Amino acid sequence: MSQQLQQEGYFGEFGGSFVPPQLQEVMDYLSEQFYKFKDDPEFNEELRYYLREYVGRESPLTYAQRLSDDWGGAKIYLKREDLNHTGAHKINNAIGQILLAKRMGAKRIIAETGAGQHGVATATACAMFDMECVIYMGAEDTRRQALNVFRMELLGATVVPVNKGQGRLKDAVDEALNDLVENYQNTFYLLGSAVGPHPFPTMVKHFQSVISEESRRQILEKEGRLPDAVIACVGGGSNAIGAFAHYIDEPSVRLIGVEPDQAPTLTQGVPSVIHGFKCLVLLDEEGQPQKTYSIAAGLDYPGIGPEHSHLKVSGRAEYATVTNEEVLEVFQELSRTEGIIPALESAHAVAYAKKLAPTMHKDQILIVNLSGRGDKDVEQVFQMLKK
Ligand SMILES: *Cc1c(COP(=O)(O)O)cnc(C)c1O
Repeated sequence: MSQQLQQEGYFGEFGGSFVPPQLQEVMDYLSEQFYKFKDDPEFNEELRYYLREYVGRESPLTYAQRLSDDWGGAKIYLKREDLNHTGAHKINNAIGQILLAKRMGAKRIIAETGAGQHGVATATACAMFDMECVIYMGAEDTRRQALNVFRMELLGATVVPVNKGQGRLKDAVDEALNDLVENYQNTFYLLGSAVGPHPFPTMVKHFQSVISEESRRQILEKEGRLPDAVIACVGGGSNAIGAFAHYIDEPSVRLIGVEPDQAPTLTQGVPSVIHGFKCLVLLDEEGQPQKTYSIAAGLDYPGIGPEHSHLKVSGRAEYATVTNEEVLEVFQELSRTEGIIPALESAHAVAYAKKLAPTMHKDQILIVNLSGRGDKDVEQVFQMLKK
């Protein structure tokens, strides 16, 4: 391995930190503090306390019997991140990072949000830990997810709509980074996905790995063996990397990430630097990050976490796409058969499971990470189905 590949924060050729010197100092300090506390017994005791008493972990690994019967083939288990407080996996990371921020003496938390889920998770954690909270959100997304904006405000956060660029997640990230450079002395940037400059991808993976730590223990208890495949949707890649983490060194377990066919970052992206790190990026003809669109706002991002980029290029994980029609169909099907309304993001993973399960044997096991619940999407789906 070359020296660069062994460097902290690299996954093969991907990752790293490509930021201005002033921001690099902030990243170096953050990195130092993260490595200092991540294995600290007191820190982990406090983290476990809040994950249990506040988030409601551990989340169940539910056997979806009716779905498995209907689809014929593999046994399907759902990892129920939808049952977490605030309705998705994002709170795992928000709690982890805010505990770190507290130890670093920060008084002010900033974050970016797309669908609003990370903003709500961050605002929730800030309310509980009594931190000032500023959330940057693309202006277009504030309209698409108006109720989440109100939720954040209820929780005491200030939501700043970003009109620059497309007025979407990518633009909100840019604004949050500007804020951090100006205010790094008292401010902690709570990043919501497994993206950004080092140490964020490593840190977010660390806090989301609780998903596969639990699912691995749970499937061994229930079935006495590891699953044959784990499926998760990928936006920036945090729920997927958390769902994969404890299986990456188990070559018998297929790891499958699912993207919208209108934002196929891993299937069609090329290596490039975006938001301070190197990953696979969808570029347009001028070499600019492509305009993406997904019915699931949380999957709408032209880049992807560096570790996923590496898992894709090295062949350890597979990445597939599904269409809006497949997602909408399975959104209703899971609701009807299992009584679980999934987030539109999570429905991408379920839609791919529907294709894969029938090709597998009845004694094979498939874990689908149900990253969130669909309450936030019900009105949007209602409007789409009316048309
Ligand atoms: C934000 C979100 C996603 C996408 O983000 P990742 O970082 O890729 O996990 C997926 N599912 C839900 C429910 C979300 O809220």
